[in-house]
Amino acid sequence: KNKDGKYTVTLIEGDGIGIEISKSVKDIYAAAEVPIKWEPVDVTPQLVNGKTTLPQEAVDSVFKNKVALKGPLATPIGKGHVSMNLTLRRTFNLFANVRPCKSIVGYKTPYDNVDTVLIRENTEGEYSGIEHTIVPGVVQSIKLITKPASERVIKYAFEYARHVNKPKILVVHKASIMKLSDGLFVNTAKEVAKDYPDVSLDFELIDNTCLKLTTDPTQYSDVVMVMPNLYGDIMSDLSSGLIGGLGLTPSGNMGNNVSIFEAVHGSAPDIAGMNLANPTALLLSSVMMLRHMSLDFYADKIEKAILQTIASGPENRTKDLRGQAGTDEFTKKIIANLE
Ligand code: NAD
Repeated sequence: KNKDGKYTVTLIEGDGIGIEISKSVKDIYAAAEVPIKWEPVDVTPQLVNGKTTLPQEAVDSVFKNKVALKGPLATPIGKGHVSMNLTLRRTFNLFANVRPCKSIVGYKTPYDNVDTVLIRENTEGEYSGIEHTIVPGVVQSIKLITKPASERVIKYAFEYARHVNKPKILVVHKASIMKLSDGLFVNTAKEVAKDYPDVSLDFELIDNTCLKLTTDPTQYSDVVMVMPNLYGDIMSDLSSGLIGGLGLTPSGNMGNNVSIFEAVHGSAPDIAGMNLANPTALLLSSVMMLRHMSLDFYADKIEKAILQTIASGPENRTKDLRGQAGTDEFTKKIIANLE
């Protein structure tokens, strides 16, 4: 907290629709008089000794403020440069990615009452970036699972389960095939569970979870799912689809000292700059951030205005939610609904 009573938060506006949705957040925060001062930073990758790194000012800002809100960053496919999202997660050791997914009352989808949360291991697994060409036409990609990284994310999930009063952990895995790697994740969960006698522990194969989740998602309302990196990536898009798409789902990248909150979606180059982006996912990520900072009053106020606006009819919703409003109009409506 600064002398003026405000908290400084690092803001990474991001690429593509990042600019538009970050503006929406800034406008709504100003109107709601949230005691936050944004510190915008540039994260354009820099090559130092052949390695992609973040600009030092951005790193310093995040370490100083401990909390950041981040728009999506584009990653070129198949080029030499490492994903900036991965670089951020590694630089700040953001080992747990929390992804809640909740139906919005008043926006009808084939599924009602979805209320899931999954925690994705955020630092290793299939995203370790260890790939080699053995001979032309044969490549190898290493899925790295370590006990320390499994342990910290699983511990985080148990703590989270207690905190949100869903005292059931479901480990989603494929240890039937990946006996050593997913097996280590599963066995680590069994060990960690000994310290949490008040939280129950269950296991499910990922393919079965996909089937059951799309058949009746309410079966997962009272559990906290935890899983290795790639499964979490895929399962969270699947969960988004149940409630109306990527325009709606927030996330928090949590570490021991730093947390970075961001939408699940990417930079949406197909609609960038067209006033079509739905800022809800980034806004709800910022609401998670406010709760993390114990600014619940402002979190509740902003969340209520967002949900009320979406529920108020297609004329006030963005196109991805079968609506007619642009990013700007939707933002203005939310501001009008702030109490
Ligand atoms: P994407 O999430 O950007 O887009 C997928 C589809 O969803 C597109 O049709 C897009 O228009 C739509 N969409 C996404 N967010 C929306 C929103 N807020 N409002 C309305 N529609 C929305 O995924 P992609 O096209 O596979 O990836 C584009 C770029 O984003 C890539 O460079 C990728 O690497 C990057 N990416 C970044 C992150 C991140 O920063 N965390 C996450 C995923 C992808």
